[in-house]
Amino acid sequence: MADNILFGERILTDALPTVARWLVVTAPPVRQWVERHLRAHTALFHEATTLDEKSLVTLESSLPPVDGVLGVGGGVAIDTAKYLAWRRQVTLCLAPSVISVDAFLTESIAVRRKGRVHYLGEVYPQMVIVDFSLVSTAPAELNRAGAGDILSIHTALWDWKLAADAGHAHFLPDIASESRQLLEFLAETAEEIRDATPDGIRTLVELYAGEVELCRRAGSSRPEEGSEHFWAYNVEYRYPRPYVHGELVSLGVLLMAYLQDNAPDWVADMVKRLGIRWQPQHLGLSREEVLESLLTARAYAEEDGLAYSVLNARPIDTTVAEKIVQSLNVFG
Ligand SMILES: [Zn+2]
Repeated sequence: MADNILFGERILTDALPTVARWLVVTAPPVRQWVERHLRAHTALFHEATTLDEKSLVTLESSLPPVDGVLGVGGGVAIDTAKYLAWRRQVTLCLAPSVISVDAFLTESIAVRRKGRVHYLGEVYPQMVIVDFSLVSTAPAELNRAGAGDILSIHTALWDWKLAADAGHAHFLPDIASESRQLLEFLAETAEEIRDATPDGIRTLVELYAGEVELCRRAGSSRPEEGSEHFWAYNVEYRYPRPYVHGELVSLGVLLMAYLQDNAPDWVADMVKRLGIRWQPQHLGLSREEVLESLLTARAYAEEDGLAYSVLNARPIDTTVAEKIVQSLNVFG
């Protein structure tokens, strides 16, 4: 568990280290909350809207000198803050307004280049502030969706083992078994996370921190990222819409669990208990789009140089894709 994470009710303003000029990178849904609470911190505000690399370069060159960057918001605000702090080499603090992605706990700087995710380097926040009064301003379903990135351990571990058996990866049994424990803990705390109570939020953050730490020790994201994420990246690339990452990944876990023949009923029960809205209709994906995304996932993963997974080992043809989509039992 990372030791630079602070938890509490209404702690953001007091916890923030003193620097001369903060640049506060925020997002539309929390802008007012942020301005109200940080007015005293002579801050410059920026509303983050995109992670497109070209836009970030333009943004950085247009900003005045600052001494620290505080990212307050969801994935886009947090990743924008990380990028700017890295480019400017200044103090970085992060305060998630929603626990929907692990960006506030990872050091990698993710941008989008022609719609695809690219990692530019690493940056370490001085402090991560989890203010429950801020996080609870987010709709509970967005916090719940965050569990999708823990649930992904289920299919990612299967892929990792498969890749190792095929000579494409080095499997680390200790890391895998600790990752599995996180999954078990998720199963034990599902209702608490679904209700997004302060305890539930704290549990989810701790699960994220545990997972990030395991990936760091593994030297890769194999403990939590496999075919379910690769499929999700393919969807984002092919049908660019503002998805909730954890909801899209949850659908990916379900689809890939069917392809892997890896306890899909357990996954279906988990997403139900967690209250995650994984249904394609909710994500705005038609039956045809889900089929197409399955049929093209392997080519996408190969073109992008993604890790070996079930997508390589079990080719998806029309019959397989139809069978998986049928198993979801959502298109009537
Ligand atoms: Zn993810």
